[in-house]
Amino acid sequence: MLLSLFGLMFWALVVAVPVWIFAGLFPALLSALCVVVFAHMRNLWQLQRMARWLSGTDLLADGRWRGIWAEIVQRIQRLLVQREKQVAVARHRLQRFLEAIQASPDGVTLLDDQGRIEWCNDMAAKHLGLDAQRDLLQHVVHLVRDPVFSKYFAQDAHDSEVLIEGRSNSLSQHVKLSVHLYAFGEGQQLLMTRDITSVSLADAMRRDFVANVSHEIRTPLTVLSGFVETLQTIPLAEEERQSYLHLMSVQAERMQSLVADLLTLSQLEGSLPPGKHEKTPVPELMAQVFSDASALSAVLSGHEGEERGPVHELVFEPAPAWIFLGVRSELLSAISNLVSNAVRYTPAGGRIHVKWSRNTDWVTFSVTDTGPGIAPEHLPRLSERFYRVDRSRSRETGGTGLGLAIAKHVAQRHGGELRIESQVGVGSTFMLVFPASRMEYMDGETSSVSL
Ligand code: ADP
Repeated sequence: MLLSLFGLMFWALVVAVPVWIFAGLFPALLSALCVVVFAHMRNLWQLQRMARWLSGTDLLADGRWRGIWAEIVQRIQRLLVQREKQVAVARHRLQRFLEAIQASPDGVTLLDDQGRIEWCNDMAAKHLGLDAQRDLLQHVVHLVRDPVFSKYFAQDAHDSEVLIEGRSNSLSQHVKLSVHLYAFGEGQQLLMTRDITSVSLADAMRRDFVANVSHEIRTPLTVLSGFVETLQTIPLAEEERQSYLHLMSVQAERMQSLVADLLTLSQLEGSLPPGKHEKTPVPELMAQVFSDASALSAVLSGHEGEERGPVHELVFEPAPAWIFLGVRSELLSAISNLVSNAVRYTPAGGRIHVKWSRNTDWVTFSVTDTGPGIAPEHLPRLSERFYRVDRSRSRETGGTGLGLAIAKHVAQRHGGELRIESQVGVGSTFMLVFPASRMEYMDGETSSVSL
């Protein structure tokens, strides 16, 4: 600036001094004035050029600027480059921030001070049935048409969340959403949505489970306390007393089995999947299962006092010389449940066929009976806790309703599964399928043990 002022004075002097010498003071002053006017006109022209340049789009292009104008343009260009870098960094950060919110398992919707949608992530769009592009600037209450939500939105304070039905409901599943509004900025709001379908399902299952357990325990308890009262108040003949005591012990045993099964289930659910260090010889295990099955079949004959024997044809194929690599008590429990079910549900005279088989990938334990069979609609629910097809037969024979749930858990914990095939009027086959790696061959040549 100072330089250009000196430049102007220099040129005014260069022109005015010779004129002063040759033509006198007045023409000299006039010529100096002409120089100043010329310089001023030139600056006005440059200013106009600059105004045009500033309103253009390509501010970083090289124009032909001189002197102080070149300096001004350079400074503006430097500032522009700096600002562009800052904008790029801010844009990158915003992008990463939005990506992070997109990745959130919860729905996030930003609302302006009027309650209109400014932005929402994909999860919020899915939860609330929104279109992230089309529904921008629409009022959220017009789109989320749920009376509970409308009432909640209209409140002044939103200290807690509310539960509403999700939009991704299908016939088979009702989606439950937890919705919470948080205030931020100047009147804006953050709408958080969370899918709590599985949590509420788990809650409902827990409530059902507690109700079922209470019901299962209450029945024998009521019977027991009735007998106790009778024994206390009515003088009975010895024979009657013995019969009452027998019935009482049956009910007590029922409660014991229920508690034992509940404990087994909770242990199965609460412990880590079993390793392969525990080794159980299959023949020894099957010998125990066979003797238990024979005893149960004899007991179920109901021929009091007579010499009892199994009333079913129990066909146990020779147990293979294998060693199970898993928890012995769990395998015994699973197999015993399947075999005892076959005995309990198959009428006297029926046939129960037990065998092990193997292919390269899997080993299978199967029990086939000639019992009543199970209708297809029951099969998917059969391993649910307390699910029974034949309630009275289950109770009569001391069933707890937990046997198949235990068998399924045991199979899954060992990397396998429980399979059921059944035909009404023909019979059923229950299978425990384990990965072949869970079974190793015994040393030596003993290939099988007959039962
Ligand atoms: P429960 O103690 O009642 O036998 P389970 O979980 O072992 O409970 O079995 C569930 C239901 O499956 C039983 O109540 C019964 O109705 C049915 N079921 C199980 N095994 C058989 C079978 N071999 N034949 C017919 N029905 C069976």
